[in-house]
Amino acid sequence: LLQLAVPLNFIGFVYREIRQGLTDIEQMFDLLEVEAEVVDKPGAPDLVIGQGAIVFKDVHFAYDPQRPILKGVSFEVPAGKTVAVVGPSGAGKSTISRLLYRFYDIQQGSITIDGQDVRDVTQKSLRSAIGMVPQDTVLFNDTIAYNIRYGRPSATDAEITQAADVAQIGHFITDLPDGFQTKVGERGLKLSGGEKQRVAIARTVLKAPPILILDEATSALDTTTEQEIQAALDIVSKNRTTLVIAHRLSTVVDADEIIVLKGGEIAERGTHAALLDMGGLYASMWNRQREATQAEEHLRQVRESD
Ligand code: ATP
Repeated sequence: LLQLAVPLNFIGFVYREIRQGLTDIEQMFDLLEVEAEVVDKPGAPDLVIGQGAIVFKDVHFAYDPQRPILKGVSFEVPAGKTVAVVGPSGAGKSTISRLLYRFYDIQQGSITIDGQDVRDVTQKSLRSAIGMVPQDTVLFNDTIAYNIRYGRPSATDAEITQAADVAQIGHFITDLPDGFQTKVGERGLKLSGGEKQRVAIARTVLKAPPILILDEATSALDTTTEQEIQAALDIVSKNRTTLVIAHRLSTVVDADEIIVLKGGEIAERGTHAALLDMGGLYASMWNRQREATQAEEHLRQVRESD
């Protein structure tokens, strides 16, 4: 039986290795497929970036023509300001960030940055002007230093350490036995969602783009992690044109404007205070989320007193 178990074990090992390889290839094809959706116009100029003012004008978009996702969405993110998009699951929030990055082309309307339509400029120049902190960061199977340096390959070690500190992950990294040389990713140290997001923030700090897109993780984070991430984001988004795709309302309270998206249309818009006064969809989402947080807090206290 032992004679059989050893080769079986080995086959299991090989299978897992192949399976892992396939996952990487699948991810690569996913990326390539997204890239292939849009092409540069012949002779397209580079984006000339100034302050990075964003304008969405009557944007209509569908992944599948049978199912419209955005139905005439108009809003502006003035240079240096922060606008947050909130709304029920499936409302089309993340789609807005993908369209600004031009992963897809819209069917009607326009999206401009400093007056230039994102379809008229090279994708390379567009994407180098935007720092994207996605919902779920995929890390390279390499060191933490490599993963952060990806934001700006010419960065020095000192700049990497500094970026990690700004992103509130510096201490976590220096406490690891191999520090910044720790291997991460599928084949290395597995980082939590919050840690991965902070690595992505450090990367963006190094890139220092004029425009920032923050697509918040949907998954619940514990309060400390959430506060650390929020502190990092506050620093990074200061004086930068920032679009926040928010799943938790606690992170949007200070936004210059909040857009409430529902079923692909803007249902409400305004500051946090104005939206609460309005007593509509935003106010009820806020109250629901506050009740949920209070219930969680209560449960924690009960557990601690046991
Ligand atoms: P959540 O809060 O749950 O993340 P969201 O508001 O960010 O939701 P989107 O991710 O923008 O929602 O998706 C809007 C709709 O578009 C959803 O119904 C989703 O199923 C659909 N959708 C998203 N990505 C694709 C895609 N690549 N192909 C087809 N449909 C898609």
